[in-house]
Amino acid sequence: MEALTNDLWVFIETNEDGTAKNVGIELLTPGRMLADKQGGNLVAVVIGSHADAAVGEAEAHGADKIILVEGKEYAVYTTDAYVIAMNALVEKYGPTSILIGASNNGRDLAPRLSCRLKTGLTADCTALDIDDETGNVAWTRPAFGGNLMATIMCPDNRPQIGTVRPGVFKKGVRMERHAEIIHETISVEAEKIRTQVLELVTDIADGNVDLEGAEIIVSGGRGVGGPEGFDIIRQLADVLGATVGASRAAVDAGWISHAHQVGQTGKTVGPRLYIACGISGAIQHLAGMSGSDVVLAVNKDSRAPIFDVADYGVVGNLFEVLPVLIKELKKARA
Ligand code: FAD
Repeated sequence: MEALTNDLWVFIETNEDGTAKNVGIELLTPGRMLADKQGGNLVAVVIGSHADAAVGEAEAHGADKIILVEGKEYAVYTTDAYVIAMNALVEKYGPTSILIGASNNGRDLAPRLSCRLKTGLTADCTALDIDDETGNVAWTRPAFGGNLMATIMCPDNRPQIGTVRPGVFKKGVRMERHAEIIHETISVEAEKIRTQVLELVTDIADGNVDLEGAEIIVSGGRGVGGPEGFDIIRQLADVLGATVGASRAAVDAGWISHAHQVGQTGKTVGPRLYIACGISGAIQHLAGMSGSDVVLAVNKDSRAPIFDVADYGVVGNLFEVLPVLIKELKKARA
């Protein structure tokens, strides 16, 4: 389809209590830059039931306009209802680009929507810009197992759609501002929704490890030597009030669950402090943590690539270094 405007949309996914999921609010940050470069408005699309809180968040984080669709059919995410609503909105307003958070639901919504609109989708982007020459969105994402970064464009079809994982961008600061709020009513008949959500289970095993929202992360890699090696990682995390992360090597070895994995095939994180212990710093691991504000690496090999991205490095055996660090931190706290 043809774009009817230069507007950039950000899909704001809502929680059951009507608040916004973090990733949607995070995407308003690059959304602002892209919308300005495209010469259009930054539009937040909020779908849910009683989504006032999400509307307030989107407004405070820079949306020029908010399209709000509320209804009981949107209380919990279903593919059919959300795709029908987004498709109807896109056909009516014709945005030129759409950003969707790569949450579980966003990963479900984006490909369905792009297929329906017969347009392109670039998944799991790590950088976004506008190509000066063509004006297309330049979607950058890891390719070939993370060994190179590919920049992808969608020159012939509109809207251009991309997903971005939680934690890749940071939320902007809250502002006092007023967005134009457009209420849309899109009723979806019950028989058009082919799935029924019987129960939401969010607390299975370790599935609720909140790495994306963590302020401090202490991660262990193959260098911890076994599942018991994570004891010292957990002790340091406890002292700092941190969340425990891991490299894929540690996860693949079965030492810790996948919910803790940081990296290209794990989670993308952006804490204030990331402590990498016994992690070499493979490009696929860096892809998930290079957005950290400060990185401290502990590794016995001074040539480990993790030191190239670390702000502070300790060359040494983690089983000697971490107990000293824990002792000193406890002392400082006391
Ligand atoms: P290693 O590379 O083996 O490094 C262990 C480090 O520990 C070494 O640097 C060593 O010097 C140090 N060490 C050993 N003993 C000690 C000690 N006692 N004290 C201090 N240091 C010590 N990896 C991820 O992490 N996340 C991903 O999401 C991910 N996705 C991938 C996707 C694809 C498609 C592919 C191909 C690979 C992916 N990988 C991912 C794997 C990645 O390439 C590396 O194999 C992995 O990150 C290595 O983990 P590691 O650093 O723990 O182990």
